[in-house]
Amino acid sequence: MTQREKAFFSPTAVQDRLDALAEKFSFAKSLSLGKSLWGHTIQALSIGCGRKKLLFLGGHHGSEYLTSTLLCDFAEELCHVIDAGESRFGLSARSFLERRTLLLLPVVNPDGEEIALFGAKSGTPMGDKLIALNGGSRDFTHWQANARGVDINHNYDYKFAAYKLLEKENNITAGPTRFAGEFPESEPETLAVCRLVSEIAEDLSVLLTFHTQGEVIYYHNRPRTRGGAYFLSRVTGYRLAEAEGLASYGGLTDWADSLSIPAYTIEIGRGENPLPVVDRGFYYATLRELFFTSLLYF
Ligand SMILES: [Zn+2]
Repeated sequence: MTQREKAFFSPTAVQDRLDALAEKFSFAKSLSLGKSLWGHTIQALSIGCGRKKLLFLGGHHGSEYLTSTLLCDFAEELCHVIDAGESRFGLSARSFLERRTLLLLPVVNPDGEEIALFGAKSGTPMGDKLIALNGGSRDFTHWQANARGVDINHNYDYKFAAYKLLEKENNITAGPTRFAGEFPESEPETLAVCRLVSEIAEDLSVLLTFHTQGEVIYYHNRPRTRGGAYFLSRVTGYRLAEAEGLASYGGLTDWADSLSIPAYTIEIGRGENPLPVVDRGFYYATLRELFFTSLLYF
């Protein structure tokens, strides 16, 4: 990746783009949900003023920064459609604004994205600590965790104690991926998401969390989630599955499901993370119908 591309996909660039939308459009508001370990603002954009709420999240995992940029691309298109009074996929701007509020949280783990994009500087205390957490390697391309080596998508309060036993069996410690942290919601990034979800849980009609591995949609198969799962699978062509093994503990979708919120993990793309950023347009084209029609469906 060129330095220019890295800068474009960085959490700072995503935040600037969200700020610009909040400044330009009266129906879009910027919400600060907290700070990451390194002091990045964890920022959401709220669009619309209806009671019914939808929440789309990206960037739980550092090397999955593409999800953050794609959610930002959607925020920009949606704001322009609303502003122009246009429709997309049968969604009329005016009816959307009156009946729904979309909350977008594109970068849950800004520090992790920064680490995956820019690596660590050896010779600095912070850099040396990260290199140690990374098993001595200076290659951070596949880094998923936050700045102290906790995987945010294992840090939610769902079967946490059971996962800690599995962690031991599998020799998982603080590092690039899969370490759940010392206790549920121990990380400021997780806490920011949990506070937001708890606050709006009653009015939340769906939670979609975007990752980048496997063209698959994970969910808990229940009467309340089944129709939504079929719908999401139809508009993307992705298969449906229930998470298994280590992936079925401590995730946001699991925790939200335990609160009776219809929740889905959407894994875009195939192959190894990070997905190539040159395919951004392809992925946006694949997800565009899902983004817009979800606003009507849920
Ligand atoms: Zn992920």
